[in-house]
Amino acid sequence: MSAGEGSVIEVPQLFDTILVLDFGSQYSHLITRRLREFNVYAEMLPCTQKISELTWKPKGIIFSGGPYSVYAEDAPHVDHDVFKLGVPILGICYGMQELAWISSKENVSAGEKKEYGHATIHVESPSCELFAGIDNFQVWMSHGDKLSALPSEYEIVATTPNSPYAAIAHKTEKIFGIQFHPEVTHTTKGKQLLRNFAIDICKAQSNWSMENFIDSEIQKIRAKVGEHGEVIGAVSGGVDSTVAAKLMKEAIGDRFHAILVDNGVMRLNECQKVKETLADGLGINLSVIDASDEFLGKLKGVTDPEKKRKIIGNTFIEVFEREAAKIKPKNGSNEIEYLLQGTLYPDVIESISFKGPSQTIKTHHNVGGLLEDMKLKLIEPLRELFKDEVRALGELLKIPHDLVWRHPFPGPGIAIRVLGEVTPSQVDIARRADHIYIEEIKKAGIYEKISQAFACLLPVKSVGVMGDQRTYEQVIALRAIETSDFMTADWYEFDASFLKTVSRRIVNEVPGVARVVYDVTSKPPATVEWE
Ligand code: GLN
Repeated sequence: MSAGEGSVIEVPQLFDTILVLDFGSQYSHLITRRLREFNVYAEMLPCTQKISELTWKPKGIIFSGGPYSVYAEDAPHVDHDVFKLGVPILGICYGMQELAWISSKENVSAGEKKEYGHATIHVESPSCELFAGIDNFQVWMSHGDKLSALPSEYEIVATTPNSPYAAIAHKTEKIFGIQFHPEVTHTTKGKQLLRNFAIDICKAQSNWSMENFIDSEIQKIRAKVGEHGEVIGAVSGGVDSTVAAKLMKEAIGDRFHAILVDNGVMRLNECQKVKETLADGLGINLSVIDASDEFLGKLKGVTDPEKKRKIIGNTFIEVFEREAAKIKPKNGSNEIEYLLQGTLYPDVIESISFKGPSQTIKTHHNVGGLLEDMKLKLIEPLRELFKDEVRALGELLKIPHDLVWRHPFPGPGIAIRVLGEVTPSQVDIARRADHIYIEEIKKAGIYEKISQAFACLLPVKSVGVMGDQRTYEQVIALRAIETSDFMTADWYEFDASFLKTVSRRIVNEVPGVARVVYDVTSKPPATVEWE
């Protein structure tokens, strides 16, 4: 089974849902985002979705923008059955051009000039519900094609100096088209417009909240797993796997088996701390497997970062499978049926979004292997959530604040923060330096201002002097970045006195380190991690 399969059937019908049909715009997921911000639940599916295969009825449909020209031969088009559902439709940019093109192929053509950036909208028809309470605001445009004529069933609702058809509305049905993008923050009243559409026009209830989500998700898990089914899942101490595990525990108690694999490259005392938080604190049925010798043994002599990642990924699968086989289901059957996975919505979007004539479906490498080898079925309770929603859920589930707001930590752990060969003594140095750095960041009260911070150990030696003695020891590099999406990032501007304290402590307290440097490279060109 692939990560994208079955997404249609799993949509909860406990919430009124707006369906976003994605034509491949880079902003499509923002439409879903904005709707959820005012508590209306939204799901995105590829624009080619067959309407007869939908097992639920949306309250309204939004056609997103997209990179194609509707009149091009390979352009994607909607299933015309969408119009038979009788629910309101809003076309955004390509989405509006699609509406016009369906009305007549003569209606859309290439513009003489492209229009990117700001424009001021003028609402010509103030009674149009879409623009209720909003007028003369700034909108953001990004298009090269234009409506060359007004489709005969529509009327003009708004204009900009460059676009005579900035917004159009069907004369008799609740179908609207807008040339600008309401989902981007540059469109000042965009959120209000989407709200007008979803709440006033589609009559969707704004009842999407994390409290309601917990209840509905627990019901869904119970329905899926059944009265006796059992679920297994790996936890890492990160927010996603912890929240997913706690939800499982709430839903099915000890029939959820969590496995924490100590791969020998976790942070200082981390395994112990995760055990205390998850097992003792949250009551999760947890087995801790110390496989550090196995991992470190396989990493011996390896310096290539890609090889390190592969070794850790593959060894993880081996260990997990072996340990999972030892767990005997409480229901007396031989095998556990389900594997828990903390997949989030951005990963789901990746796998379902419309990317051209053929769709790309991404299967998580590790999970793919486990599913096939162990004949497990996948359970993904967070697949509808964005990261900040998972954090809100974590707080509601009473997961400790520190864990909920923890910086991301890579799967291969400290192995990719020890540059060069990963030996137990090198891991120990990197671990201790990192611990001091993070401790000072927390003490300074800036941990949550920074998106990710860590120390890494460089495979070089440098000359120093300590107590009149010449030293020849290693170098620690500190990294801290600020980012909203991890696609681009800037380095964090610490006070010089902060860096001084951290540097002094590391050199004094960590044997083997004689020099500390701070990484002042943004992403791009650098990546967040050094390997
Ligand atoms: N490709 C179409 C155009 O250039 C639609 C662009 C969009 O949806 N942003 O007009």
